[in-house]
Amino acid sequence: MPKIVCVLFDDPEQGYPTTYARDEIPTITRYPDGQTTPTPNEIGFSPGELLGSVSGELGLRGFLESAGHTLVVTSDKDGANSVLERELPDAEVVISQPFWPAYLTRERIEKARNLKLVITAGVGSDHIDLDAASAHDITVAEITYSNSLSVAEHAVMQILALVRNYLPAHRWVTDERGWNVADSVERAYDVEGMAVGTLGAGRIGVATLRRMQPFGVQLHYHDKQRLPTELEQELGLTFHQSPESLAASVDVVSIHAPLHPETEGLFNDDLIGKMKRGAYIVNTARGRICDRDAVVRALESGHLAGYAGDVWYPQPPEADHPWRDMPHHGMTPHVSGATLSAQARYAAGTREILEHWLEGTEIRDEYLIVDKGELAGVGAQSYTRSRADRR
Ligand code: NAD
Repeated sequence: MPKIVCVLFDDPEQGYPTTYARDEIPTITRYPDGQTTPTPNEIGFSPGELLGSVSGELGLRGFLESAGHTLVVTSDKDGANSVLERELPDAEVVISQPFWPAYLTRERIEKARNLKLVITAGVGSDHIDLDAASAHDITVAEITYSNSLSVAEHAVMQILALVRNYLPAHRWVTDERGWNVADSVERAYDVEGMAVGTLGAGRIGVATLRRMQPFGVQLHYHDKQRLPTELEQELGLTFHQSPESLAASVDVVSIHAPLHPETEGLFNDDLIGKMKRGAYIVNTARGRICDRDAVVRALESGHLAGYAGDVWYPQPPEADHPWRDMPHHGMTPHVSGATLSAQARYAAGTREILEHWLEGTEIRDEYLIVDKGELAGVGAQSYTRSRADRR
């Protein structure tokens, strides 16, 4: 029987929830560009449930088992003795989420001789060696747009949290039982009047710019592809030809480009050094776009006033990862795209892809990253081949 291996994050420490904070989530049928939200024939869950953890199973078990498939769900993904490593040799499909990524390296892909389809339940497939997937004719697909607006909301929240010094002020109330107004405001500013820019202006980048516009800020961006003039005019955007020009011009940079050879380590000592003293970085794209130690150095020296985001490397990060303890940070675990609202969409999208796969019908082009040995669909627009493999 075909085996599907699904790598999900652990259940909550207190156990899988039996009740939720809200009874329902809003119904959304289209994204801002007109693309429809996932359209599976059916779903095996109630929207608003915790689907991305091991007991949530992305709501897939009934559907897959009734179709005669074996479903293995695990959170044990790293190391030679992990369940993922043991199950890989006869897995036909691997599903994982960027929040708890099943790192599919070239070595693992070579071991997975039956692997035909890899699904990212979410957006961002950089945890998969895309060159190796292409070489082994493995299809890689993700649920494009499913959590893009969720991430934009988180980026806006973290921009405000950093600039307004929210987390330290909150800690004075909870941890210290205090009323320390001066301590709370000595690093607090209004975002109004600041220059805010995005590195990358795709689905998340534009949504972040759009959401920041009402705050009365000057909006900037750098992207490999310039946005349409009408959109630049509508949002009052200043376009920068290079990351350096953007970095030097703004008070806040929010990073929204994919991790690939062009962006890996982009925010290093040199680029951060070109930013204004007291600038802020929010990175909800991928941890490795920023040089880990350069960020720590810039916060410690006071060159950066704050750093926030939700993406790390590796995930989960080690207990002594320096970003846990660096000054003036507002990091969360990788959660911006994993709200219960987003989970309902990417679980439905995963089911949509599996339905097509099992029926032998076409997967939506907008979900494809690698297909038929090449970058395809959205993947062809967002990613580059590795330097070694680029043709
Ligand atoms: P998108 O494909 O719509 O937009 C990406 C944009 O980045 C494109 O406009 C592309 O031209 C631009 N880009 C690519 N390389 C660039 C470079 N070298 N310099 C400047 N711009 C470049 O993708 P999206 O939906 O906006 O998502 C962006 C990224 O956010 C994803 O690749 C993923 O890594 C990350 N993400 C994070 C979460 C989360 O939970 N934190 C969730 C979803 C996506």
